Amino acid sequence: MDYHIDDAYGYIGEFEAFAGIEALMDFLGNKRRVFRELFDNGYTEDLVTLRKALKGISSENENLNNEIVHFREMVSRCKIILVINDGCNDYYQFQAQDRGGIDSVEQNCSLDIFNDFKYQDIKSAHPPEKPGVFVIKVQKRGTDECEISNELTGEICEIKWKAMQHAFSHRLDQIVHMSNCPILYIGHAGTNPESRQTLADKYRELAYCHPTHFYVWALLKYNWKLDFGWMVCDYPKKYAAELKTEFVKHHGQMPLMIEREEW
Ligand SMILES: [Zn+2]
Repeated sequence: MDYHIDDAYGYIGEFEAFAGIEALMDFLGNKRRVFRELFDNGYTEDLVTLRKALKGISSENENLNNEIVHFREMVSRCKIILVINDGCNDYYQFQAQDRGGIDSVEQNCSLDIFNDFKYQDIKSAHPPEKPGVFVIKVQKRGTDECEISNELTGEICEIKWKAMQHAFSHRLDQIVHMSNCPILYIGHAGTNPESRQTLADKYRELAYCHPTHFYVWALLKYNWKLDFGWMVCDYPKKYAAELKTEFVKHHGQMPLMIEREEW
């Protein structure tokens, strides 16, 4: 079986076939409990302990040693969680009871941390001129994700600019693999009560220039209804980080529109 490692944002890398993953699991599992737990559970949220435990571990067997070096390098790139994926079962450890799948009319995240947000249609929202946290949430689904991807991929190919094609096809791929969770983005406006950046600023940015731009555009074009939701708070940056951590603990991955570089 082919094993690879994912983190909260998705794919990190394959296990190399220097010695075989079983040999690596055996070797590390006998060294420290943290490894045994990782291999038993298939995931860990405690990357700090894992990185510390990997320091200075080596084997006299050259193949095994190469595997350890490679494993350490992959762990160093993981953010928030590490999942050992056997290639056929994505994040099965995280059983979020969300409503929002293909046949669902209801769009609900099973986490209650978003309940107190104020929601308005993204096309006509009026968030206040105050710092706070915000989310982009599905209100009603539109055209099927695969159909969106097929159509837009065709159109983007016609532009014939490889780098742009690459950027867009990555995002279309993300859309196709969207989970049931209707929360698509978590962000913040300002860092403290004195911050000059406000929710209204961020909302305007969404229409002009924001990392979520392509996703929002693609979904709206294909008749999805999206909500802009917000909550005024004193320390938005810190609060948004807490929301993201809670989200990942529950779902095993970040919301669709949050990209690796942003965190
Ligand atoms: Zn959810």
